[in-house]
Amino acid sequence: MDTTPGMMWGVDKSLTPSPYNMAILKKKNDWLSDENSASCMLCDAEFSFFNRRHHCRRCGRLFCNSCMKTGIWVGKETVLERVCNLCHLILSEDYQLKAYRSYFHLFKSSDILIRTEYLRAIRNSIRTDDDRALILKWKNNAFMRQVVEAVKEYSVRSTRTDLYWSMLFGVVINLTASFDPEVARAFIDAGGATAVLTCIRVCEEPYLQEFLVWILRNISPCPAVVTHDADPISTMAAIDRVLKIEVRTLQQCCTAALANLLTHDALRYTHAMTKVPQCTIVTALARLLTLTVPQIQRNAARCVSLVATATPAVLPVFDKRGIIEMVAGLLTAFDPQVKCAAMVAIRTMVARSAVLAARLTDPGQTSVVPALTAIIAAQDNDLTPIALGLLNSMAEIDECAAGLGRAVDDALIEALDGATSLSDGLIKDAGMDAAGKLAGLVEEGPKRDRLTELTVTTQFNGVKVVEDYL
Ligand SMILES: [Zn+2]
Ligand SMILES: [Zn+2]
Repeated sequence: MDTTPGMMWGVDKSLTPSPYNMAILKKKNDWLSDENSASCMLCDAEFSFFNRRHHCRRCGRLFCNSCMKTGIWVGKETVLERVCNLCHLILSEDYQLKAYRSYFHLFKSSDILIRTEYLRAIRNSIRTDDDRALILKWKNNAFMRQVVEAVKEYSVRSTRTDLYWSMLFGVVINLTASFDPEVARAFIDAGGATAVLTCIRVCEEPYLQEFLVWILRNISPCPAVVTHDADPISTMAAIDRVLKIEVRTLQQCCTAALANLLTHDALRYTHAMTKVPQCTIVTALARLLTLTVPQIQRNAARCVSLVATATPAVLPVFDKRGIIEMVAGLLTAFDPQVKCAAMVAIRTMVARSAVLAARLTDPGQTSVVPALTAIIAAQDNDLTPIALGLLNSMAEIDECAAGLGRAVDDALIEALDGATSLSDGLIKDAGMDAAGKLAGLVEEGPKRDRLTELTVTTQFNGVKVVEDYL
């Protein structure tokens, strides 16, 4: 899993100027009137002659004296204004998850502002996996279940404010932006994946859509999302819908989620694509491959490769959309990871279609071979072995022989030129075939004089083979 971009929404400092200015306070006219609540909105203690009502100067809600213990300095640190304990926790930059456990009941408060503020406090407190582990322990995971119940309410569109939803989804993003699969698992076990997918399908607000797609991306590497909860057809319908939206961040995390899901079960998800009416995922992939945003191109190429692996029958469709040529074009991309994803996708496609392999190696049609030769010549420890391996596997396809010509030999000589300066890994990763071929070239080729030492270490069927070629 990537780093945790969900933390973009992690801590909201906009409400914590120091010292606070008057703007954070509610005007007296906006305070809740006394009739609105007969009891304290934090602890539920009933108001009476002895237990008087107090107004929080920040949220304007009604609280008892003991829930208004604290104050904040406003202006030039001259005035101490009384705020409720919840507002005080939010305004103090010290977000401590432990402090909010005793306020769990606020999550179900009938007052939407109290609910929203509670969620804001929780969202801002979840920053590490330790925080997430702590939250899972609350009343035997009751918090997570409550979160999922709240997400489910979105699809029936109650009258709640947008702020409430962005806080709620922000909590889910921060909860699921974890390297610990247990957390995603707990969310999915509570029905979270289905709830999120339903929300994606009904959501119209772009910024909330973005939150939802982040959540989908966060949970998609968890195997449970496939086996346990989400139905592949509704998943693909949700992805299809989002990919049509021309917002780069959305497309980026949506393609990442798609690639993760295809990695779990490419066959099932590819099949699901065909079941979604007017599904345009393949068309979308073609468009995304041409966007010069490395993350999107990399994800799209990964998806192409996974789909082609699971369902070779899709190749004619790829061909019709020009996807094959687009992937080939990525071999000259600037970003190494894009090049790598493109090579993997090409390897998948040529392995499944000799006709396609012949076309891709035809110098008149594409520049795949020169591009691969250039990658090999660049002597990159990560990319060169993959390019060598791809050239080798193409060389084994009879239909490619004409197109490849001397390209493979030239490329190997090129690689050999730098072999002494490259790590052993280069030759090892290129496989036994490349090593053997190299050895052949060394024996007869013009490069023999240049080399003083060439030891090739290969892993073959788990056995380490060291061969001295000179
Ligand atoms: Zn109280
Ligand atoms: Zn307050």
